[in-house]
Amino acid sequence: MITESDVQKLIAIVGEDNVSQRQADLDAHSVDESWVDPHIPEVVVWPSSAQQVSEIVRYANERRLPVVPWAGGSSLEGNPVPVCGGILLAMYRMNRILNINEDDLQVTVEPGVIYDELNAQLRRLGMFFPPAPGSSDVANIGGMVANNSSGMRTVKYGVTRDYVQRLEVVLPSGEIVHLGSNAIKTTSGYDLLGLMIGSEGTLGVVTEITLRVVGAPEQVAAVVAVFDELDDATATVYDCIRSGLDPSAIEFLDEGTVRVTNQQQGLHLRETPTLFIEFHGNQADIEEQVEYLRELCEENGCTDFQAAMTAEDREQLWAARSEAHDSIKFSHPGAVMIAGDVCVPISKFGALVHFVHDLAQRMNLPIYAFGHAGDGNLHTETIAHREDAEEFARGIQATDEIIKHGLALGGTVAGEHGVGLAKREYMALEHGNSLEIMKAIKHLLDPNGIMNPGKVFMD
Ligand SMILES: Cc1cc2nc3c(=O)[nH]c(=O)nc-3n(C[C@H](O)[C@H](O)[C@H](O)COP(=O)(O)OP(=O)(O)OC[C@H]3O[C@@H](n4cnc5c(N)ncnc54)[C@H](O)[C@@H]3O)c2cc1C
Repeated sequence: MITESDVQKLIAIVGEDNVSQRQADLDAHSVDESWVDPHIPEVVVWPSSAQQVSEIVRYANERRLPVVPWAGGSSLEGNPVPVCGGILLAMYRMNRILNINEDDLQVTVEPGVIYDELNAQLRRLGMFFPPAPGSSDVANIGGMVANNSSGMRTVKYGVTRDYVQRLEVVLPSGEIVHLGSNAIKTTSGYDLLGLMIGSEGTLGVVTEITLRVVGAPEQVAAVVAVFDELDDATATVYDCIRSGLDPSAIEFLDEGTVRVTNQQQGLHLRETPTLFIEFHGNQADIEEQVEYLRELCEENGCTDFQAAMTAEDREQLWAARSEAHDSIKFSHPGAVMIAGDVCVPISKFGALVHFVHDLAQRMNLPIYAFGHAGDGNLHTETIAHREDAEEFARGIQATDEIIKHGLALGGTVAGEHGVGLAKREYMALEHGNSLEIMKAIKHLLDPNGIMNPGKVFMD
């Protein structure tokens, strides 16, 4: 429980303008983009340096006060929701790009830099940071590191983890540590850098990040491939990966997702299973890849294959794909979207999509299925109304069945959204007794359990 003297201490560290208990500020940091219930923090604090974060965390540790880092608030599993109250550490004002090292293709940033804004700066220099989450206009680099986010270009370029060179982290004790190096590879000791990435703010607060970036491609090409049958679309995804094609994105949208995308984003796509595919490379390479893709699509019964797109058309297409979540949301006002983020081995992707469609019929609920097909990552949005208790319970059960089926296919409960609150109960099922090792690490670094309590683990 935060007392008046705690608030005065926080003011002494960051100044009066950077501490708030106003209801509007508490409410604004009470819920992310998930379906989990809001929980208000007791105080919101906006630090501006690692030193301030260190003093806040050190004090909170002495007082046993919860500390919850918050970046863009766009998580889908309740990751930054302050379920135990306490101090909400709003990191988004630490948003400077500190250094762009063109010689080594590296960039050092504070955690509050927004993904799209970083790439706008990098693009001018012919470079980019590739993971491309659908929430690229709000996701902060700190939030992406903490969630190990990925996205549309992961199939070619990998996930956030693959790009983090160095981190400055404030540990739960308040100590500041520097992890990693600027070298592109290392075998020097345990991978503490890797441990922090994807730890969802439960092991420390990231205050500075050095990322590896890559050169921008010479040419980009996009393809829309339309299918009458679900199996034909998913078979094409498999064939693309299996045959060694090197797309920079393969996104799948089922019929329902195409329908709401048309309605909300002003597209005119045929409302059947569809793939958005992209290639990066030089002109000759891209032409060859697109032709090979055309053959694969035709062999799999593709009914419409559009390749020659202008840069403007491409932008519209990818913007529409990024907005899939919002297109579904705006098509069901008042309903709750229960998100799934199962990721399976590529040979099982078709079976997973099939399962979800059969389940939607069996449960008599709308379930949208779309996602980063080239990674085997299927996003599902199950639509239910909270005020209809029976329907809501059915929605939760449907999501539970999708997750368990994904695990049975050799997959993971969280391809990219993290565990947060909503997926905690599946951790034991996925990890078995190795979950105890994770808990022991948490206890070692955070013996008082102050960092983002209530997340990742059930107890
Ligand atoms: C429309 C939409 C599309 C999305 N698409 C994708 C997608 O394609 N791929 C994907 O991976 N995700 C996606 N997401 C989920 C989410 O946007 C990403 O995980 C995003 O990277 C989270 O960033 P954020 O800045 O909003 O972090 P937040 O949600 O604010 O926080 C994320 C986690 O990081 C912790 N945290 C924040 N800052 C720090 C810090 N400095 N130090 C330590 N911990 C910290 C928080 O406590 C929390 O646990 C999507 C979400 C939406 C709403």
